[in-house]
Amino acid sequence: MSQLNPRQREAVKYLDGPLLVLAGAGSGKTSVITRKIAHLIEYAGFPGRHIAAVTFTNKAAREMKERVGRLVDRRAARGLIVATFHNLGLTILREEHDAVGYHPGFSIFDAEDARALLRDLLAQHAPDTGLEVGDLQMTLSNWKNAMLLPDQALSRARDAREERFAVIYQHYADYLKAYNALDFDDLILLPVLLFRNNTEILEKWQRRIRYLLVDEYQDTNLSQYEMVRLLVGHRQCLTVVGDDDQSIYAWRGARPENLAQLKEDFPGLKIVKLEQNYRSMRRILSTANALIANNPHVFEKALWSELGVGDPIRILRTRNEEAEAERIASEILDHKLKSHAEFRDFAVLYRGNHQARLLEIKLQAYQIPYRISGGTSFFAKNEIKDAMAYLRLLTNPDDDTAFLRVVNVPRREIGPRTLEQLTGYARQRGLSLTRALNEMGADAHIQARSLEKLRRFADFLNRTCERLEREDTLPVIRQMFTDIEYQEWLQQNASSTKQAQRQMDNVWYLLDSLEQMNRNEDDEGEQTLEDAVSRLVLRDIMERQEEEDDSDKVQLMTLHASKGLEFPHVFVMGLEEELLPHRSSIEQDSIEEERRLMYVGITRAQRTLTLTYAAQRKQYGDVIETIPSRFIDEMPDDHVKHEGIGKADKETNQRRGKATLSALLDDLS
Ligand code: ATP
Ligand code: MG
Repeated sequence: MSQLNPRQREAVKYLDGPLLVLAGAGSGKTSVITRKIAHLIEYAGFPGRHIAAVTFTNKAAREMKERVGRLVDRRAARGLIVATFHNLGLTILREEHDAVGYHPGFSIFDAEDARALLRDLLAQHAPDTGLEVGDLQMTLSNWKNAMLLPDQALSRARDAREERFAVIYQHYADYLKAYNALDFDDLILLPVLLFRNNTEILEKWQRRIRYLLVDEYQDTNLSQYEMVRLLVGHRQCLTVVGDDDQSIYAWRGARPENLAQLKEDFPGLKIVKLEQNYRSMRRILSTANALIANNPHVFEKALWSELGVGDPIRILRTRNEEAEAERIASEILDHKLKSHAEFRDFAVLYRGNHQARLLEIKLQAYQIPYRISGGTSFFAKNEIKDAMAYLRLLTNPDDDTAFLRVVNVPRREIGPRTLEQLTGYARQRGLSLTRALNEMGADAHIQARSLEKLRRFADFLNRTCERLEREDTLPVIRQMFTDIEYQEWLQQNASSTKQAQRQMDNVWYLLDSLEQMNRNEDDEGEQTLEDAVSRLVLRDIMERQEEEDDSDKVQLMTLHASKGLEFPHVFVMGLEEELLPHRSSIEQDSIEEERRLMYVGITRAQRTLTLTYAAQRKQYGDVIETIPSRFIDEMPDDHVKHEGIGKADKETNQRRGKATLSALLDDLS
């Protein structure tokens, strides 16, 4: 407690009603949450299992748990929930799946799974309309976040496009149900609907969660807000912290107005403001303050810092995007030597994931270890999920989730209605889908043609299982992927032959590693495929955790992903009009949100901040002259220092650029 300033202490100790901590970046909002959890457990007599803290990312949740672990006795903290909204939703649904009509072991579709299904539905129900699957997915997600069900979306549709989308929304919901699967947004939507409709269950969870804390509150959307409101109920045991200047998810339905709304929904709301920043050197803070002053403000805040003035913010102009990436790589090495920093002290932030590609190449050439946040892990890839589902189904025919994942991969034309009937039949008799399929007779009331298709799938499974008992495991499985023409199926769904080939190679790679594991385990006796499969998953998870924990690597991530984090040395790249601010926000006149994003980026930096932009950049095959970002103009002259090429020495730089590029290519080959 002694390490907190008086206002933070006040926020931690306040338990008389709902509390909002409204404060700028780096002022210790997240610290207040962590301390408050400890305070609740140690002094206020709340057992850990009755407290829930919601944060924005898994990483933040992990960190928060660790911090609490250091502050309080482990036993007292048992059962404490520190999770993202989605994880909290999942916890609730695991217990309440019956009440929302799902059976245990339901699967969760990630964005890619959902997109694949939506692409199919779009082709089926709106062919040749030019509607895009990305647009469809975003619209459905926004509807779900606004808690609109398919029929409500349909009745509110404003044009033909929305009408089509609403119809597909209904089909999509039917399919998910038949697959016993949820998408990401359902993890919030379903608990909220359940709480609204079932007081008994709501009260049960209100008894369970007696104190709720929410970090990054400015980025909650409508359904998340509703979840908070319902869980808190009349007891009003709630602490939320947020910063309206860091609201960067409006495009995903986040509503900074939720901060203002809170005052209306909780009339007794106490507001604490924090103004001392403990993160950044003064120049960095002044630059952030000056930038964000260009946005209109509901809540005025004035951040100050006792840390030193610090170095000027460097703004580097390079010839093109290659030179930009290369400059960042060489700057990191330079900085590292001069300031005796570790690689992990550096972060490079960018507007879009595609900007990381060139940077990766350059970092590799300079042998700088790096880690990209938000990349797709091997086991999150669709083809690997398919393959794992096949493996799971063959080792455990009762795994309904796996069954539903692969029943139409490749397409076997088994429709949602048939699957629903099969699921209903199985559930009535308490059978798994595979068993139901094998036992089913005419009493199933399934159309003969559909039944025939189902039978064919069952036969295929049975045959493969029999072969697995007699023959060597992995050759049988390899043969199976060839027999079902999996590669052709990939080809139909891929954007290029090359992509399909890469995906197929991933599957072969997975099978090879399984074989390797089997061989290594030989001395310890025979290992089943089942063991190998589950251990493979475990290993992947553990490897990923280790990597996050203690490797010394430069962190690469989008500005969005950097929220809540801090690094001694930060680079923000691509400060150009149309990139940052992004073209779409210029077109849609949502510059303010881009400015907040820039503000988030700047305020991640503790000691040094370097901003870069390229004079020329390739865009759709053409080389264009870029315009420096307007955000550069908004930064105070006395705190920034411009470096890099000016217009005059463009040509020398061009030559130098070519020379370094060829040296680099030599290095790589
Ligand atoms: P953001 O808006 O970026 O999420 P935040 O308001 O959550 O920032 P924290 O991450 O909690 O801020 O704190 C920023 C840094 O300041 C952390 O390194 C934290 O340890 C430190 N800090 C917080 N409060 C204090 C304090 N009272 N004394 C010293 N350091 C502090
Ligand atoms: Mg924070």
